[in-house]
Amino acid sequence: MEFNNKKLEKTSKLINYVIAILLCGFLISLSNKLIDDVDQWEEMPTVEQFENHTFIDKKNDEIKKVNTKIQHKQEKRLNIQNTLKIVNNNYANAKRSYDNWLEARKTVGSPNEDKEVLSRANELDEYYKTQQEWREELIIINGEIKKLNQEKNEIEVLIYQENERAYQEREKAIRKYDLKVFLIRLLFILPILLLGIYFIIKFRKHKYWPLFLGYVLFSFYAFFFGLVPYLPSYGGYIRYTVGIILSILFGVYAINKIKAFIEQKKKELKVSTTERAKKVQTETAEKALDNHMCPSCGKDFIVKKWDKSVSNKDKTSTYGVVTNFCRFCGLELFKKCNNCGSENFAHLPFCSNCGDPINEEKAH
Ligand SMILES: [Zn+2]
Ligand SMILES: [Zn+2]
Repeated sequence: MEFNNKKLEKTSKLINYVIAILLCGFLISLSNKLIDDVDQWEEMPTVEQFENHTFIDKKNDEIKKVNTKIQHKQEKRLNIQNTLKIVNNNYANAKRSYDNWLEARKTVGSPNEDKEVLSRANELDEYYKTQQEWREELIIINGEIKKLNQEKNEIEVLIYQENERAYQEREKAIRKYDLKVFLIRLLFILPILLLGIYFIIKFRKHKYWPLFLGYVLFSFYAFFFGLVPYLPSYGGYIRYTVGIILSILFGVYAINKIKAFIEQKKKELKVSTTERAKKVQTETAEKALDNHMCPSCGKDFIVKKWDKSVSNKDKTSTYGVVTNFCRFCGLELFKKCNNCGSENFAHLPFCSNCGDPINEEKAH
């Protein structure tokens, strides 16, 4: 005899789910760890891999040389600027003294002094010439520095172009790398998913189904969610396509299953009522009684107020009562006990009044 306590049934269901979820959780953690490790198999491409190092080193050397030259010229320019300051000062002093002298001469004026005017003007001219020379020197050196800077810029542009080329090469390599990593992951996760599907098909009725369910949940999680952060842009196509295929397969399977079940039920109803009565399991009978339905065809056996299928003569006595035979398939539902004569549900093993077996074959 089956032990059929409802509370126990509920508890065991809960325990089954807990087992499934626990196993699923650990499997997910393990697979995440595994996927992380698998990723290390492939090195992420770096820019350095694609750079022409000899070229860049050479250009950097050139820049260094130009920089030394620029520094040298700048020092020289600073000297020139300092000298120029002195020269400017000298000229300004000489000019002032000449002007003062000329002013004084105008007032005290003497024609004999023309010679001296000339010599003094010449002296001032010398100062002026020196000043101009140094100015020119400054202009020249500024030009040289400008040219060197231009040279440096040109080299920098070359280095920049080389780097840019290396970046683009790397972008291409990363796309390849992503695809490779994704395929490696898919290689791991696809068999996991397929095995999960196989478990659903084969082991639904298995004693250890909760463990299988744990694995099945994990396999679906791994494919549809675990793979997501690693999917390159086109990965969505694979995920949705597999999802669509699975939905269709499950849909077809479920529809066929339901259809087959209905067909079988129809076939069963064609068999004689006594044959059918023998096939009713105690468990089914219990559920059927709870839900006041026929254990064979599943229809309600309580007569409703609006039900006209029962004779109209004695309405009051038929309201809310049950019928001894199913009105839809003819199965016997209630019968009298052979020992005490009280009414009993015909598909349970013992009489509710005296405990005598009412179903010989079920009461063992
Ligand atoms: Zn029935
Ligand atoms: Zn009895």
